[in-house]
Amino acid sequence: MMVTFNEVRVFLWSWIPTGKAYAAITLPPFGIFMRKRMSPSGLGTEEGFKRLLDHELIHWEQYRRWGLLGYYGRYLVWLVAYGYKDHPMEVEARERSGIQ
Ligand SMILES: [Zn+2]
Repeated sequence: MMVTFNEVRVFLWSWIPTGKAYAAITLPPFGIFMRKRMSPSGLGTEEGFKRLLDHELIHWEQYRRWGLLGYYGRYLVWLVAYGYKDHPMEVEARERSGIQ
């Protein structure tokens, strides 16, 4: 399933290109990939799914802010420097959406 939301393509798939621990991933310029089972028709609640989408939309905003290379460049360099939990882009997304 695919929907377009705020000019962003959102793919609701049973398999997404992440490790099993992650429920969603934002991969510009393609879109946001979310696990189908996280949706309200799966195991997720509407509120939880909305927050998850909000989190991913903040990553999309970061991509719009820095461009494609700026987005992936910062993501990779800061992942090495800070790890996932303290990653500045994750901290921003977490703080503004209320979800990890
Ligand atoms: Zn994130």
